[in-house]
Amino acid sequence: MHLPTVVRQVLTGRLAQRVAHEAGTGTGDYLLLHRMPRAAQRLLRLMSRPIASRLIVAAILGHSWTLEGSGCLRATVGPPPVFILERCPLCRSVQSADPRWTYYAATVARLFQELVEPTATAIDTDCAAVSGGSCRFELRWV
Ligand SMILES: [Zn+2]
Repeated sequence: MHLPTVVRQVLTGRLAQRVAHEAGTGTGDYLLLHRMPRAAQRLLRLMSRPIASRLIVAAILGHSWTLEGSGCLRATVGPPPVFILERCPLCRSVQSADPRWTYYAATVARLFQELVEPTATAIDTDCAAVSGGSCRFELRWV
């Protein structure tokens, strides 16, 4: 069972959202510190936002097996970059008033904050747990 799923079973409401967001941000920090080569990070920071965004989206899709489970992740490079997950393992088969894939959105936002634009945030625009559709978030920055 995913840790974010366990968090949602123990916590509710704003506290659950906050913990999921913090866990996702921490996962982004871990990826930057231990999984993404420093040379690649330096190069991305030197690139224009559109090119860096395109490369990060491609890298995330290339490693999507780590988050999609039996779902199907796709993305558009934008602007803004948009991530869409069909059959999200965190959100399918649950109903919620709040988006449930905050953990993933926060992880991706952290990567964009560090490598593309410090003001980047992930905005949940749809969630299977809320609407029964697909999970979807956009990256936005000032
Ligand atoms: Zn969702």
